[in-house]
Amino acid sequence: MTTTRFAPSPTGYIHVGNLRTALMNYLIARKAGGTFILRIDDTDPERSKEEYVDAIKQDLEWLGLQWDRVERQSDRLDRYAEAADKLREMGRFYEAFETPTELDLKRKKQLNMGKPPVYDRAALNLSEAEKEALRAERGNGVWRFKLDHERIEWNDGILGDISIDASSVSDPVLIRGDGQVLYTIASVVDDTEMGVTEVVRGSDHVTNTATQIQIIEALGGACPRFAHHSLLTGPQGEALSKRLGTLALRDLREQGVQPMALLSLMARLGSSDPVELRSDMAELIDGFDIGRFGAAPTKFDVQDLFPLTAKHLQSLPLADVADAVTDAGVPADMAEPFWAMARENITTLADLQGWWELCRDGAEPLIDEDDRDFITEAVALLPEGPFDGETWGVWTKAVKETTGRKGKGLFMPLRKALTGMERGPEMAALLPLLQVIRARG
Ligand code: GLU
Repeated sequence: MTTTRFAPSPTGYIHVGNLRTALMNYLIARKAGGTFILRIDDTDPERSKEEYVDAIKQDLEWLGLQWDRVERQSDRLDRYAEAADKLREMGRFYEAFETPTELDLKRKKQLNMGKPPVYDRAALNLSEAEKEALRAERGNGVWRFKLDHERIEWNDGILGDISIDASSVSDPVLIRGDGQVLYTIASVVDDTEMGVTEVVRGSDHVTNTATQIQIIEALGGACPRFAHHSLLTGPQGEALSKRLGTLALRDLREQGVQPMALLSLMARLGSSDPVELRSDMAELIDGFDIGRFGAAPTKFDVQDLFPLTAKHLQSLPLADVADAVTDAGVPADMAEPFWAMARENITTLADLQGWWELCRDGAEPLIDEDDRDFITEAVALLPEGPFDGETWGVWTKAVKETTGRKGKGLFMPLRKALTGMERGPEMAALLPLLQVIRARG
């Protein structure tokens, strides 16, 4: 059975970059009728925060990316210790004592000599006595996984055939000197034991994947299928990593972006299929194909979310936005006609407020000098209230007959006088809502 997971570290909020990972894993699971696990990678007790765990769940719920179960790495430390023991017994795990400064020096030397900065495995030559002495002097060492120096190959769901020479990669540290288990091994143990069949993540994990494949094989697990999506850049191709903090889902939500707009964009951006606004999750699942994604960096422009949001809102019935309409101050008996009038004229729900204020308070009339007399004449012709959907037609017909004006010369001055704007909602729909005039009529 297809099983995927989204495995955020609770050290920050979900942003557009990791949303892509969450969404792809979610869609793959749902499309296959499989399982989607939310795995909290919280092996780092200093940086992991409970408030981020809550925030991650809230954000996923806001988007409608419902997980089937939650796993937490901090609950599974004994499993990782067991795996570490197994690697130790196999002779694939060794303790190393270099300080960060020493490692840095080694790297610099290698680079100076034109060599790749790969850990030289000096620790493998330490005798027991030497290790004892180092332990006494520096405390426990880190534990490194001894890679087999051969090519590591896999068929990546996005990048295609990948082949990495293990000797170009440093033996990964899996356990820190203070005993903290690192993600690289925890993830392998989890993916294997939880039966994860597909792992989609960012291409910054490609080297991890190479080492993880060897660890999985050493532990006798089954390898999931891996796919690495390209990293997001800004609209000009600039690195987004520094700005991701401002592209947190909660900020987008705050700006009025609608979940369906965001999901529709992220499910297609970077693929060879066009971005299309989807009306619900079922359509999104149906139209998703990981094989259509490319390896090239993907340009993301936050501005693209707003036309999609506007389009999505236009498609909604009042019932779906009733709270926002009420919050804008619209009385219940006017909600239906108000929404029908406003929905074509908003980008986000926050814009409802302005249209309601116009209905309630009217606008500062915008009247050109040449139109003064015309407007006076027109106002005198306003039909008796109450206004309805026909009023605008009846009124403008009368104004046309009396003044002889037609087309834009007729309608535009009226629109500007009533709304203070040159553009906006259908006047026929707006007129019955204009309370000021209604009061006068
Ligand atoms: N916690 C890791 C991250 O957020 C998970 C990577 C993975 O999907 O394996 O980068």
